[in-house]
Amino acid sequence: MGTEVSVTLWHDDALLARRAIDAVMAQMQGIDERWNPAAPGSELYRVNRQAALGPVAISPELAGVIDKALYYSRLTEGAFDISFASVGQFYDYRTGVAPGEEQRQDALPAIDYRLLQLDRDALRLGFGHPAMRIDLGGIAKGYAVDRAIDLLWQRGIRHASVSAGGDTRLLGDRRGRPWMVGIRNPRQDDDVALVLPLEDVAFSTSGDYERFFIDPDTGARIHHIINPRTGLSAGGVVSVSVIGPRGFDTDPLSTTVFVLGVDQGLALIDSLPDFDAVLIDAQGLVHYSSGLVE
Ligand code: AMP
Ligand code: MG
Repeated sequence: MGTEVSVTLWHDDALLARRAIDAVMAQMQGIDERWNPAAPGSELYRVNRQAALGPVAISPELAGVIDKALYYSRLTEGAFDISFASVGQFYDYRTGVAPGEEQRQDALPAIDYRLLQLDRDALRLGFGHPAMRIDLGGIAKGYAVDRAIDLLWQRGIRHASVSAGGDTRLLGDRRGRPWMVGIRNPRQDDDVALVLPLEDVAFSTSGDYERFFIDPDTGARIHHIINPRTGLSAGGVVSVSVIGPRGFDTDPLSTTVFVLGVDQGLALIDSLPDFDAVLIDAQGLVHYSSGLVE
């Protein structure tokens, strides 16, 4: 997943604690190996190579994640769309590469969740456009932290925090006190803009500082959250954090709200009873969903 994983937990037995952490790391690695679209041999690599030729067999686990992704696509008319990768694959943030104008225009019609043909019963997936590609970067980390917390719970652990990049899931509290979760100052490394006391929830942050480069010609920040309508980096906000019961929802929602921007994004969160959000806009102003200000 190209990101840092951290686990904090309490267990009376140091050896069992160590084994639990090892098990979480192994599970994370497994998810990364299955769904890394760049790794030949991964399930996602195979799907991306073959699904445009006709429906391909997929695992029940992948079907479940794509089903959830499609749910958020439908809810937002495509602000969240795993087929963003049809254009997204042409960005390389590390080396400062963006798709050319023609390349972007040609691939843009392939970003369309309605052309993803998922058969959950037969466990098959087809692409309705030859240039279509999918990527689970906006949902897999939240799924992974949920799986990690399930695993820890099964091993008797009741106080834990698991993070994969910007996605965190908390189990219980920090032994009598809440976990203190920080939202980074988006324009200053190592500076925290806001700290929230939380327990037993998931917390996902999407920020334009995570993977980006500055266009040498225009000075524009080219970052990893893509507006599916344009194939360009989404503008308007610089950081979105979503709080809710599960990472499987807060992860796609943070990406979605980032694409939607302040007004539409907050309207979406306020329509969902279990979720709250904190947004930082391009002027540095902080916006809260109504559940946090009432
Ligand atoms: P996050 O850090 O959770 O906001 O996820 C960002 C990642 O989601 C990116 O690195 C892409 O892999 C993926 N992504 C970017 N734009 C979209 C989008 N519009 N819909 C779904 N996934 C996206
Ligand atoms: Mg996210």
